[in-house]
Amino acid sequence: MKCKHCGSKKTRKNGKTYGIQRYMCNKCSRTFSPPKYTAEMRKNVLIHYLKGYGVSKTASIAGVSYTTVLNWVKDSSELLEQLRKELGEKPEETDINEK
Ligand SMILES: [Zn+2]
Repeated sequence: MKCKHCGSKKTRKNGKTYGIQRYMCNKCSRTFSPPKYTAEMRKNVLIHYLKGYGVSKTASIAGVSYTTVLNWVKDSSELLEQLRKELGEKPEETDINEK
């Protein structure tokens, strides 16, 4: 598995998050997931986001990149609405550009 941060191939398995295999890079010591994410993982990320964890915290909990969370939030407006209802929260203005 190639490191998505530095491109090194010297990586090793590093446990699992939401059932997704995680990898750690021996060169830059950062962790990453395989490029393919499951729908369930995306849903978990959006739930954390809706619970007010914020993009960067959600990213670190789920083990995905900040950009990935941002993209999922942008791409999943319908799913977000649905999850909001499931969580019983009122829709509110969210600033997806916050750091
Ligand atoms: Zn690396």
